[in-house]
Amino acid sequence: MTQHPQDAASLHARHQAVLPSWLSLYYERPLELTHGEGRHVWDAEGNRYLDFFGGILTTMTAHALPEVTKAVSEQAGRIIHTSTLYLSRPMVDLAERIAALSGIPDARVFFTTSGTEANDAALLLATAHRRSNQVLAMRNSYHGRSFSTVGITGNQSWSPTSLSPLQTLYVHGGVRTRGPYAELGDRDYIAACVADLEDMLQQTAGGIAALIAEPVQGVGGFTMPPDGLYAAFREVLARHGILWISDEVQTGWGRTGDHFWGWQAHADNGPPDLLTFAKGIGNGMAIGGVVARAEVMNSLTANSISTFGGSPVTMAAGLANLTYLLEHDLQGNARRVGGLLIERLRAVTAGLDVVREVRGRGLMIGVELVRPGTDERAPEAASLVLEAARERGLLIGKGGQGGASLRIAPPMTLTVAEAEEGATLLADALQAVQGVLA
Ligand code: PLP
Repeated sequence: MTQHPQDAASLHARHQAVLPSWLSLYYERPLELTHGEGRHVWDAEGNRYLDFFGGILTTMTAHALPEVTKAVSEQAGRIIHTSTLYLSRPMVDLAERIAALSGIPDARVFFTTSGTEANDAALLLATAHRRSNQVLAMRNSYHGRSFSTVGITGNQSWSPTSLSPLQTLYVHGGVRTRGPYAELGDRDYIAACVADLEDMLQQTAGGIAALIAEPVQGVGGFTMPPDGLYAAFREVLARHGILWISDEVQTGWGRTGDHFWGWQAHADNGPPDLLTFAKGIGNGMAIGGVVARAEVMNSLTANSISTFGGSPVTMAAGLANLTYLLEHDLQGNARRVGGLLIERLRAVTAGLDVVREVRGRGLMIGVELVRPGTDERAPEAASLVLEAARERGLLIGKGGQGGASLRIAPPMTLTVAEAEEGATLLADALQAVQGVLA
């Protein structure tokens, strides 16, 4: 049943009256999405959209994937929840598969219900293991919205009120589109970032527990450090006994195309000490988690539980989704179709002054916008493009410094035809916005 636009307005008013002001909503007339299928979603008024954001990368394979829906309903029909106090076959099954895929030797997996909680747990483990509350994080990073994770979030627009008890030092290396290192080639850039890190460590008294980093910055606008940066960092960190936490909440499961995990683009000298994941693995069901080798994972000596972490229904979804992803080589699809989409986007935006660059890897693609004729980031253009794309039946995300980048991360089953359609719709939206700004 379709709704009248006024119903959406009243839902928005009710939302504003009862939910926090800081809970971000897209669009001046926010959307209520009611159902989805494949790479498409529908709103309450019956409009259909090509989904190029997948619910912030949570719909990893496809909307209403029958394999996942079936696994969820069968598990829910048996038992919905038991808690971690009892053995759970789906939880052990999924943990075994993730441990084997992680690349971390003697791996243990702890399930949470979000990426925030996964990073929180990783910080708890790393600080307990190293007996230090000092952490290194990257500039422009985003790791969640809990008390500890806002404290390691470098992106100013997401952590302005942090009073976190962690002592965080921010490392250079996340973004180089502008600033002193913008002109450096990859090798020199890595050398400069490593020199910064060494310098920082020399000026720091006491041990540091860990460095946490996203291999590709997600909320930060899909910005990519050069391959090998974290391998170079790791050599320095290892000398100081500092652990490396790879936040794979956005980059895991083959989304970047060339690799199953984002860290693999960086480290030929071994996996991270801890890896965190969330978002796509449940295809929309709330699963997060940490992988660490036993020595680090078992640093906590007190007993603990996670009432909802590893819930059987979410684990059933994760197992079905992971099986589908591997059997259908969605990593390969992300590489092929993502590569084509990046090429198409570069081609269709080549003459547009409002576009500074199209960057990306696999199905994680960022488009940075500037005020036409300048090099100034244009967050207002990003908001306008989101609206214009919506009018044309395309949903995308935004982010990056000052919110001036568009973020494109469709479900990983995206077809070539859908990639081409999306690129055409986005080019049209960009053209329209450029016309307004000029
Ligand atoms: N880490 C990264 C890299 C993220 O992008 C996010 C969310 O966008 C988080 C952690 C937090 O995850 P969640 O929103 O599931 O708590």
